[in-house]
Amino acid sequence: MSDRTKYVLDEDRIPRAWYNIVADLPFAPAAVLHPGTGQPIGPADLAPLFPMALIAQEVSAEREIEIPEPVREAYRLYRPSPVYRARRLEKALGTPAHIYYKYEGVSPGGSHKPNTALAQAWYNKNEGVTRLATETGAGQWGTSLAIAGALFGLEVKVYMVRASYDQKPYRRMLMETYGAQVVASPSPTTNYGRQVLAATPENPGSLGIAISEAVEDAATRDDTKYSLGSVLNHVLVHQSVIGIEAIEQMAMAGEEPDVIIACAGGGSNFAGMAFPWLGRKLRGEGHARIVAVEPEAAPSLTKGVYEYDFGDTARLTPLVKMHTLGHDFIPEPIHAGGLRYHGMAPLVSLVKDKGLIEARAVHQNPSFEAGVLFARSEGILPAPESSHAIRVAIDEAIEAREAGQSRVILFNLSGHGHFDLSAYERYLAGALEDYEYPADRVAAALAAVPVISD
Ligand SMILES: *Cc1c(COP(=O)(O)O)cnc(C)c1O
Repeated sequence: MSDRTKYVLDEDRIPRAWYNIVADLPFAPAAVLHPGTGQPIGPADLAPLFPMALIAQEVSAEREIEIPEPVREAYRLYRPSPVYRARRLEKALGTPAHIYYKYEGVSPGGSHKPNTALAQAWYNKNEGVTRLATETGAGQWGTSLAIAGALFGLEVKVYMVRASYDQKPYRRMLMETYGAQVVASPSPTTNYGRQVLAATPENPGSLGIAISEAVEDAATRDDTKYSLGSVLNHVLVHQSVIGIEAIEQMAMAGEEPDVIIACAGGGSNFAGMAFPWLGRKLRGEGHARIVAVEPEAAPSLTKGVYEYDFGDTARLTPLVKMHTLGHDFIPEPIHAGGLRYHGMAPLVSLVKDKGLIEARAVHQNPSFEAGVLFARSEGILPAPESSHAIRVAIDEAIEAREAGQSRVILFNLSGHGHFDLSAYERYLAGALEDYEYPADRVAAALAAVPVISD
């Protein structure tokens, strides 16, 4: 073990290939089904939405997928990201545990999301696409795609959940500054948006509705493809740069993690950190427990069912087998907007179902408590999403202290919280709610999940 605090890699250590867990899994992922017919879909079904290169990655079983040089060049803006040893946090907790974190907040945009936004923008550009449509909840994904669109010369249209659009004007301004066009969803610019507005004029929107609008936009225009910031296999592949770098950085530190932790909304930063380590473990190296942390308000991995479901409210997306709370379920308005999703990435769901990873759910106040302790010890203000991972890292460190054990903890700090100050203000004022698990609403939403056996 070295006594450094920060583990930094040179630019030439930016990975040359992404990692695909599918190659190392001893079982095959479930088929993806057409939303209308319920039959397995092929590349042609996805072609209106995605460029061929990304469709190929979506179904790839290759262990390594080469990172195109223009994408590596764009990664040089902020990669490799640093790994820190949280010495001050360890001291504050009085724990013998060693706590390490990988910090993805160094990207423009302030989270891990540019890792896939830059890749997606480049592949689209490379196949002649000139415009991308997407959705955003709290705004981090829309911002990341807006940056990528600006860097690679693509127009970007963002359907932003109405509630965030009204409450978070700075996020909208940031996207517009990067050149994106932003509308509140439900919007009057799509058929589905008009339908929702006709039925419920004051609808605050949801990620599921915004996805439906963006998919409709892309499917109905020749110049436009759809871009999604999480959940899909190709997104998880792009995020693997996090774990690949972290493996090298932990080797620099001379330590082998006992537990690896990340928050999970759609599952992409979790998979990005965890899958390269899990692959290594499946090949007989390392022993870490791997923990996904989700909010109590949207506990798909810990309380959802593992079934085929739609990714959106209008049932336009393919059916994927995943841990879901039902495509009609709209989570309570917790401040960790990036974790408010009814489903979970199919590959994360699969490894959870097979017992290769663990999952825990955390309430809003305990996660903010952890985030504030982290900010005051380490000096970095975490995103509310990331604070879910910090909560569990702290709990692990306390457990190690109480058991009188050493323990090496590695977590992913998925982003900074500079755009979440009103949430911190509410927490500090004691005005944040911890929403109880909405069992009735989940049961109602699950009743709408189609019954499909595989
Ligand atoms: C979007 C976001 C998340 C959740 O998305 P995943 O796909 O689950 O990673 C987590 N942390 C931050 C900072 C985000 O912006």
